[in-house]
Amino acid sequence: MKKDRQCMITDIQREVEYTSSLIGKRALDPRVIKAMEEVPREAFVPASMLHLAFENGPLPIGYGQTISQPSIVALMSDLLQTQDDHVVLEIGTGSGYQTAILSRLVRQVYSIEVVGELGEASAGRLKDLGYSNVECRIGNGYAGWPEHAPYNGIIVTAAATHIPMQLVDQLMPGGRLVIPVGEPYGAQELVVVTRGEADHFDVREILGVAFVPMQEELGSTG
Ligand code: SAH
Repeated sequence: MKKDRQCMITDIQREVEYTSSLIGKRALDPRVIKAMEEVPREAFVPASMLHLAFENGPLPIGYGQTISQPSIVALMSDLLQTQDDHVVLEIGTGSGYQTAILSRLVRQVYSIEVVGELGEASAGRLKDLGYSNVECRIGNGYAGWPEHAPYNGIIVTAAATHIPMQLVDQLMPGGRLVIPVGEPYGAQELVVVTRGEADHFDVREILGVAFVPMQEELGSTG
């Protein structure tokens, strides 16, 4: 499995080289690469997909959702510019794989999943694997998790039609929101929103992506 993970890292590095003009660098944060080497992706994919666990592509996890492609997980983790003492919020726990990667990079991860069955399964999996600096909740994360705000970073792993201002409001000054924005199942861009002082924020589009849609209606909380 270790060798397979090493092949996955090679694929990620190749993808980074290939997109370097868009992402503005030729290599990702070594802390991110180390986390990708350490977290067992095979533990987060359905048993029937095990033979594809280290391919650089998304995989179905049920309920119409997917575990994100390794190179995208790595890129989004890099774009958050995490530090060891950071507290981050993730919207869309899904399989819990991105959650586990983040837990190796920061002090505390809060993660919200709207599909109850997925949220329960991933919370159990993260606990069993010993990722103890993670708190999961089932519910609609469109309005964030204000009780633990402000965050150093917020990552959304489903595509929103626009930038949710409630999430920007939960960032501390200098904090970053990494989110795919665009049409459901259509053209989407990975966007980084950096919060400045007061109400100022900066928006940077990175590259085209394909994510499942974010549930944006707040009426249907988990
Ligand atoms: N990071 C996950 C990605 C899962 S796909 C992984 O790699 O496994 C995106 C997830 O976002 C899905 O599980 C979906 O149910 C969830 N989701 C969509 N809209 C949401 C919302 N408003 N609040 C919380 N979770 C949401």
